[in-house]
Amino acid sequence: MGLEDRLKRLRQRFAEREIDGLFISRPENRRYLSGFHSSAGYLLITSQDTILATDFRYLEQAKRQASSYQVFPINGDIGDWFPKLVAGLHLRQLGFEAGHITFSLYRKLSDILNRAELPLKLIPIEGLVASLRAIKEPEEIKLITQAVAISDAAFKYAENTIQAGMSEPELALEIEKFMREGGSEAIPFNIIVASGPNSALPHAKPSSRTINSGEPIVIDIGARVSGYSSDLSRTICLGNSDETFNKVYDSVLGAQLAAIAMIKEGMSGEEADKMARIVIEEAGYGEAFGHALGHGIGLASHELPRLGPNSTEPLTNGMVFTIEPGIYLTGWGGVRIEDTVVMEDGKIRVISKSRKAGR
Ligand code: ZN
Repeated sequence: MGLEDRLKRLRQRFAEREIDGLFISRPENRRYLSGFHSSAGYLLITSQDTILATDFRYLEQAKRQASSYQVFPINGDIGDWFPKLVAGLHLRQLGFEAGHITFSLYRKLSDILNRAELPLKLIPIEGLVASLRAIKEPEEIKLITQAVAISDAAFKYAENTIQAGMSEPELALEIEKFMREGGSEAIPFNIIVASGPNSALPHAKPSSRTINSGEPIVIDIGARVSGYSSDLSRTICLGNSDETFNKVYDSVLGAQLAAIAMIKEGMSGEEADKMARIVIEEAGYGEAFGHALGHGIGLASHELPRLGPNSTEPLTNGMVFTIEPGIYLTGWGGVRIEDTVVMEDGKIRVISKSRKAGR
């Protein structure tokens, strides 16, 4: 793992954000910058120091997983240990993760600093580590590829297992069991099995509904390997599909294939999104594609980049993200086709291999 390189790239950005240290609370960022993964702990990174603060339950694990860090044992209320943590570091402007720390913790930290009369200012920081994480190292792409292989195998298993008369949660449970047995860690998000009108909800929960022939069935699954996720959606139809299904399916597939072929390095997330959106608009379903085309994937199942309207950040080599157009018709159902891809040599390489013949 290129930990030194990650820290170097992070520190290079301290000046432009006008901070001399960063207090990390988000678990994925903690793991990314230290290697330490558990349910509790903070990092304090300055231009010289790397400190991992965690409590007695995790001290041994911290020393093992984050061997280059100085481990700082914490105990009890943050009011007791935070002043000691920053003492002697001569920090003036400490960044904190504004999108993650709760308001009450922020207030607590401010009170602590005021009371201790420390000349230290808290600076809200957003998206700094996230922008580093968006560009993957070869080792990270390898882990994502392993997670993708598990979800590919699980989709094949789902296709062979699904039967009319099964309930949505029944199939979801079968798929989850298959992925866990196939080497996935705790799955990164709840599996979606949504049939008929239920599939018109992009983030449907499996209902008690029975799966029928002739209706759209959206299956959206992800596996996790060493913290890294995959994300895969397919839409299938048991028995004969109706004309609506065929038309909607072909539009979504056409949009996805166009996006895969046309998205290039340097395009903004918004431009990338347009490659698919235009195809769906031309088919007359513009209003029915209500979400963004895709999202980055890695230690979190949704991270940067964002491929959608108003996303101005350019896509670059090494980014791993999903391409997942969908059409959702209230009362009828929906179709979504999603692959995990990587930007390589300026263009898209699709990592997932699941077949797309939906009908
Ligand atoms: Zn997704």
